[in-house]
Amino acid sequence: MERIDFYENARRILANPVIVNAVQKATSHALAKRLDTISRIPDFESLRDKARAAKEEIISNFEDFLEKFKKNATRNGFIVHEAKDAKEAKDIVYEIFSNHNVKTVVSSKSMTQEEIEINPFLESKGIVKYETDLGEFIIQTAKQKPSHITAPAIHMTRKEIAQLFHDKLGMEYTEDPEEITYFARQFLREKYFKADAGMSGANFLIADTGSFVVVENEGNARMSTTLPKLHVAVTGIEKLIPSIKDFPNFIKILAPSSTGQHQTVYTNIFSTVGRGREVHIVLIDNGRRKMLADPVLREALMCIRCGGCSNVCPIFQLLGGHAYGSVYSGPIGIIWTYAIFGHSVARDLPFASTLCGACHEICPVRINIPKILLHLRHRVVEKEGGPFAERLLVELWEKVMTHPTVNKFGFRIASKAQVFFERDRKIRCLPWILSRWTEWKDIDPIPGKSFRELWKERQKNS
Ligand code: SF4
Repeated sequence: MERIDFYENARRILANPVIVNAVQKATSHALAKRLDTISRIPDFESLRDKARAAKEEIISNFEDFLEKFKKNATRNGFIVHEAKDAKEAKDIVYEIFSNHNVKTVVSSKSMTQEEIEINPFLESKGIVKYETDLGEFIIQTAKQKPSHITAPAIHMTRKEIAQLFHDKLGMEYTEDPEEITYFARQFLREKYFKADAGMSGANFLIADTGSFVVVENEGNARMSTTLPKLHVAVTGIEKLIPSIKDFPNFIKILAPSSTGQHQTVYTNIFSTVGRGREVHIVLIDNGRRKMLADPVLREALMCIRCGGCSNVCPIFQLLGGHAYGSVYSGPIGIIWTYAIFGHSVARDLPFASTLCGACHEICPVRINIPKILLHLRHRVVEKEGGPFAERLLVELWEKVMTHPTVNKFGFRIASKAQVFFERDRKIRCLPWILSRWTEWKDIDPIPGKSFRELWKERQKNS
């Protein structure tokens, strides 16, 4: 993967008000629904604590729980595979499909499949894979990447989708959402019946029962995973939870944090294999064990992929997911992209945050995302040394702030000089090395009196 140029992506997106409006509308709607729903779940905070505790248990004893899951899943009749990286995972899937002469596949939404880029791989082998989740179907038709962990087409308007289906799939032009959905439904229905195999991801892997869980709203995952005789679930190893007893705690916090629903419409728990069927589970590492070995990054493995942190993030609200240049977007997506795809690809991303802390507050499993982002910034600066201008500025700032006399005069000079850059009581355009501060935002002018001067005045008056 090439280096992600976050700043260039941001510039391109900001020039497109359609995307900006679509993302703002969708995220604020999801946040309002979340607030309303959780206000009606009295034990929501204690459910979060319980879910967090279960994930902590997994993290501290990971290999044992994974072994337990594999053993129980095999006992249930599933064929379990392990892949150390994306290539190995794709090879395993292809081998399964080759053995069954698979030509067409229907798939429910899976970010892990997106992560390993399985669609172009299968296409290159002559296998057609249809995404059946409406959002994924839209972006597959548009040949784009998902722009949100749970709502992949969040950046598109109804009008754009109508035009896309009309141009690419021959739908009679309509902007009526029900008619558009009905068209997609009709288009996909025959694919389910004709497909040679179904694919899915997994939201949870339950260690003590060897079950895997797929949650969804459209019924498409249920169709994809049960109509074809062959089912391949491709999932990251971090989806483990210790016990079926923990499952209700997770399911009760997932949908409210994600779409603001009380619960997803369908919860599919696979614990057995039907007669004449074959079910494979491909467990993918692809950098996850490396995250586990990292004392700071390991916390990100607790993510249950609700997408709430994206909805609440001021950067995401403005730009949507494509600015992050990766399948994983938003605050947690930064961490995952850095961990999975590496420093050379993702070195801009840890700076794509205001560190306001809203993501930490909203996260149902209380992942301290700002702390991890700050840690990644340290890593970037350690490796890259930081931009020259920024280093100069920080050194200058240190001198000014640690020497009272320099501070006093520096303050006076800055408060006089700012008149050249001030307009309507805002600093709108700083020069040279400071210019990036005002490229996208205005800042408040330096007040006429310093804190020390105000303090002295106050003491005098009292
Ligand atoms: S980090 Fe937390 S809020 Fe963000 S997607 Fe994961 S579980 Fe949801």
